[in-house]
Amino acid sequence: TTYAAAGDRYERLPYRRAGSTGLDLPALSLGLWQRFGTDNAYETQRAIILRAFDLGIAHFDNADRYGPPHRAAQQVFGEVLAKDLAPYRDELVLTTKAGNPIGPSPYLKGGSRKSLLTSLDHSLRDLRTDYVDVFYHHRQDPATPIEETVGALADAVRQGKALYVGISNYDPERAHEAAVLLREAGVPLLVHQPRYSIFDRGPELNGLLDLAAADGFGLVVYSPLAQGLLTDKYLHGIPADARAANSAFLSPDVIDDTYRKRAAALDDLARTRGQSLAQLALQWVLRRPEVTSALIGASSIAQLDHNAKALDAAPLTDEELALIDEHGVH
Ligand code: NDP
Repeated sequence: TTYAAAGDRYERLPYRRAGSTGLDLPALSLGLWQRFGTDNAYETQRAIILRAFDLGIAHFDNADRYGPPHRAAQQVFGEVLAKDLAPYRDELVLTTKAGNPIGPSPYLKGGSRKSLLTSLDHSLRDLRTDYVDVFYHHRQDPATPIEETVGALADAVRQGKALYVGISNYDPERAHEAAVLLREAGVPLLVHQPRYSIFDRGPELNGLLDLAAADGFGLVVYSPLAQGLLTDKYLHGIPADARAANSAFLSPDVIDDTYRKRAAALDDLARTRGQSLAQLALQWVLRRPEVTSALIGASSIAQLDHNAKALDAAPLTDEELALIDEHGVH
């Protein structure tokens, strides 16, 4: 069937400015880390991507690693782009990342110019597009001079293969170094991508939120649902089709009595607010203006529809935030 995008797609979700740059991103973005590859039906993956766009989620996050196997997520996205979304390419913000290992070769990991720029060319072929909107270094590589890494990112922009650059999983000190060097190179850092959720306060504790404001970049925060732990799906067991039952990245061992107590308390709080735990968790990361977008995953259209309503509820009060701290922090 031919796809035509929903006419009301920009009336559903707020867009937020990435730091002091010129680019807005949707408050929710969709990532293709897991369940986009050979472990889910192509038609399901296609339907999730297209529904995201219909909901105003025009920002799709990829990496050379995503699948399984590596590269598969981008190949799926490339097919959907070619067959369905090509007329809307100007309205999409597409990302890719390089530098997280995708093989044993020294050129398939790290922060060298060789690794980054060859990966980007390969990703453009996978994604079937001439450019990505954001090209990320996936994780810091202390073994490579930061000047080389940052120089490769800036050259990707100069070569017209990326419009903006980003970094991910950098500690604040190295993020600041990168931001300074990129500004000097005339290619300001658009976004940093850290993990952040009610269960993971890293960016608050290590000063990254403050740094983002000071250095003028946005934060696109990943795993805001703690991979599904901040939903009600694990309150009474582990569903057979859930990530904790199927993925090397989420051990069922974390779903213990302590977890269930914390999640149940947060779930109660969400219900008194007339929303679900998942919706509360998304609203919580977005309470901070430094957070440009919450980067979610989805294995079904129903999850996406549900999560897209996260911002329908009233803003969180100070009292509610204190309760979330009480239940959410280990
Ligand atoms: P989330 O914390 O949003 O977890 C998403 C998963 O939770 C879904 O795949 C689904 O898993 C489950 N879920 C989502 N909504 C619901 C719901 N309403 N009810 C029940 N279950 C739900 O984020 P991810 O961990 O998936 O990460 C999101 C994106 O962030 C990635 O795709 C990637 O783009 C990026 N990322 C970046 C990293 C980096 O190093 N830069 C690292 C990790 C992620 P299921 O149904 O299978 O249980």
